[in-house]
Amino acid sequence: MSWNCAVNPNAKSGIKAVMTHRKKQAKKKVGRCVFCGVRGPITREHIPAKAFFPSPLPSNLITVPSCRKCNSEWQKDEDYFRLCLVAREDTKGNRSRDELFPTVKRSLTRVDARGFANKFLNSLAEVEEFTPAGIYVRSGVSVSFEGARLDRVAEKVIRGLFYLETGRRVPPDYRVAIVHQSRVRHLRPAFRTDLLGFVAMVLETKPREFGPAFKYWYLPSPNGWARSHWILEFYGSREFYCFTAPIISAPENAARLPT
Ligand SMILES: [Zn+2]
Repeated sequence: MSWNCAVNPNAKSGIKAVMTHRKKQAKKKVGRCVFCGVRGPITREHIPAKAFFPSPLPSNLITVPSCRKCNSEWQKDEDYFRLCLVAREDTKGNRSRDELFPTVKRSLTRVDARGFANKFLNSLAEVEEFTPAGIYVRSGVSVSFEGARLDRVAEKVIRGLFYLETGRRVPPDYRVAIVHQSRVRHLRPAFRTDLLGFVAMVLETKPREFGPAFKYWYLPSPNGWARSHWILEFYGSREFYCFTAPIISAPENAARLPT
């Protein structure tokens, strides 16, 4: 007796494909996104973005769990952030900045970057700096940047680093406040005094360095695990003073700095 089986010649490869798909699904990690807090499939996001570093990347560069949406959400702001910092006079001489400069310059000539490049080039201005006594300091290029875009990138970095340092997300009733160095002199006097006092304290801690491109200082507050103070330095320039505090008392234009 013989059996006439209708054998699908593709069955074996079909089964193989299903198995591979299942294996891939099993490998897909599920977790909570550090940035938006949504639970689901997660990828790993570099903090700060890989694009801020010349090759080879620092061996201690960190990654945090991120959903796909958040993983791509900041890319344009990060390109802009890198461009602003790398184009600035005061970061010249930093090894990572100098190594990145040709890449950043090339990225401006890409077809899809032309509109962006024009907008950016229009924001550049030749400047000459003088001390109050009228002594010439230097000439160079200043950039009038879109502060909100830089702040968004800094906030992302803080959320990632907060997770690294505490093992937890910034709580939903807390906010990350960002003060760019250029805004310090515009703060209310009492707030500015508090901020500068904290900056001095934070600088007494040991920074964590990721090559010459990035460095941060972290000082947790004794008043609660989620309260913290931070300084972010990119390409040798201390760019941001940041803190996490309950939403109710966090705005940087408040009379006093939350502790
Ligand atoms: Zn997310």
